[in-house]
Amino acid sequence: MRRKIVVGNWKMNKTVAESTELASAVVAALGSDCSACEAGIAPTYPALDSVGRTIKGGEVLLVAQNCHYEDDGAFTGEVSTGMLNALGCSYVIIGHSERRQYFGETDATVNLRIKKVLAAGMKAILCVGETLEERESGAFEAVVSTQVTGGLQGVVDISDIVIAYEPVWAIGTGRTASSEQAQEVHKIIRNKVAELYGAPAADAVRIQYGGSVKPSNAAELFAMPDIDGGLIGGAALKAEDFAAIVKAAC
Ligand code: PEP
Repeated sequence: MRRKIVVGNWKMNKTVAESTELASAVVAALGSDCSACEAGIAPTYPALDSVGRTIKGGEVLLVAQNCHYEDDGAFTGEVSTGMLNALGCSYVIIGHSERRQYFGETDATVNLRIKKVLAAGMKAILCVGETLEERESGAFEAVVSTQVTGGLQGVVDISDIVIAYEPVWAIGTGRTASSEQAQEVHKIIRNKVAELYGAPAADAVRIQYGGSVKPSNAAELFAMPDIDGGLIGGAALKAEDFAAIVKAAC
């Protein structure tokens, strides 16, 4: 039985003070009844320290939105896995479609980051997903399979990897994939993992869905056999909504 995992990606939203306040509100809204699944929040880099202190000792995990693949040095504007680890991050989101679309991330750079996160002793959330054009042309299976294979190149053990299927056309658009559409791709991803790592690893790997998940559609999505939780954008900025989504997974 896979333990579901729900992570709120706050993207480039909220000051440190606002993030700290939101983190407290998330903890309060979740109460003590979310231990059946994993829940995490991913604030901006500047807010990681304060949010980490706010949620310390509780069940909500600290998650980073990205990292660089070098240890240190002349990489202006970048943040290393060592820095994130020192702040208590459990997971790092890698290869979000916004990183791929606006910041030139490729499967090769995603792969370098994934390996670095694992080497630092943290877990990685590998994001994959097709654009609207790729969905409409029927290329989504090939696109997603290539992203999974490329992102995991040379990764021997995937027990610290979570995969997030996030169709680009459903992110921040209010347009959610139907639970059947999402399930179809989650199954494709699980089959790909089975081909690469064998059936037990495929059975164990958690695959989140992301793309306009809300309290009103979370339970239906999470009830699908291959959907193991969610990566939540907009709805994660409201503590009550995020808590309702987490509770739908518990
Ligand atoms: C995301 O960016 O990971 C995401 C799923 O966003 P939203 O929930 O706003 O569609």
